[in-house]
Amino acid sequence: MLYTIPDYYQKFHCIAGDCEETCCAGWQIVADPASLKRYRREKGPYRNTLKEKIDWKNSCFKQDEDRRCAFLNKDNLCEMYINIGEKSLCRTCTRYPRHIEEFEDSREITLSVSCPEVARILMSHLEPVTFQTVEKEGEEEYEDFDPFLFDKLLDAREVLYRILQNRALPVKIRMGLSYGLVRDFQRRINHEDLFSTDGVLEKYQKPAARAFVEKMTKAAEAENAYLFIKEMFHKLFQLELLREDWGLLLLETEKRLFLDMDAGTYRTLTEEFLQWMEEHDMHWEIRKEQLLVYFVSTYFCGAVYDGEALSKMQMALLSVDFVEELLKAKWLRNEKSLDDEELVELVYRYSREVEHSDYNLKKLEEMMPVENGSFC
Ligand code: SF4
Repeated sequence: MLYTIPDYYQKFHCIAGDCEETCCAGWQIVADPASLKRYRREKGPYRNTLKEKIDWKNSCFKQDEDRRCAFLNKDNLCEMYINIGEKSLCRTCTRYPRHIEEFEDSREITLSVSCPEVARILMSHLEPVTFQTVEKEGEEEYEDFDPFLFDKLLDAREVLYRILQNRALPVKIRMGLSYGLVRDFQRRINHEDLFSTDGVLEKYQKPAARAFVEKMTKAAEAENAYLFIKEMFHKLFQLELLREDWGLLLLETEKRLFLDMDAGTYRTLTEEFLQWMEEHDMHWEIRKEQLLVYFVSTYFCGAVYDGEALSKMQMALLSVDFVEELLKAKWLRNEKSLDDEELVELVYRYSREVEHSDYNLKKLEEMMPVENGSFC
């Protein structure tokens, strides 16, 4: 069995009571059957508290009116942990913020940027991210698993990392190349022509592909990039709302960037914002790269289960665009200023809303245009 983790994985330590946005509030914590069984069998003095604070019917922990877990005390510490120890924690609490993608004979473990500490670690990681794979004993066989498609997806993802981490090119061009590569790759999947995907991977690493994407980027800038992002951003309102304040943030961002200004003003403002980010050492090009690699590493190979590689790539690209729009609106609100903590905050808030709802992840993929050149 192969286990893969990103190089910053070991840097993570939960900061518990010091966390500004604890993971024990704002969403429902579902307990796994084995933990529920343990809670039911608890014999000590904490037995009655467990009985009272667990929603046995829905297999989850009860919450107070502020949607804080019933076991969370006022210092943001877990009372269950304090009273009956670390081993009492359910699988959700033990694993978070680890995210595990399961494939036949392999597990890919990432850290979710919905955790503020992880977002902080990733946003201060300025070197290109690498991944480490270790082999441990154990084999398994899945019934409906296509190992050939999985191998091709792994190959494509390696090339995507190479492209996305090519710092000789502006991130915008790297995004365009990644989009083009996966669009062509998807056509091969649709036509059941996986043998020709190697040619696609080669093509997108050649200078001619770069020149083409550069040309497309200029055309997209001049014509429809503004309308495209405006339309896609508006679609975020179709997602399930996990936190009230997220809806307000979306409304404010949309108003500032898309309702209060026209395409020309938006373009000028975007240029000014990007220049400000560069002049103030916000490392936005690098941080975009890290986010792109994060989304691609987490979701791209999941296409082995549904054959939808393109929508996963689009989701990665648009997620980074959405975060940029949120930052831009925040910068505007701050009278053209932004700091690292605000950047980290918008990253984890985006991730919390989008990545922690199966409905939202599915909906976001469905919202992606079938094929659209505006990513270039
Ligand atoms: S969000 Fe992250 S740092 Fe905060 S309490 Fe949860 S695991 Fe710990």
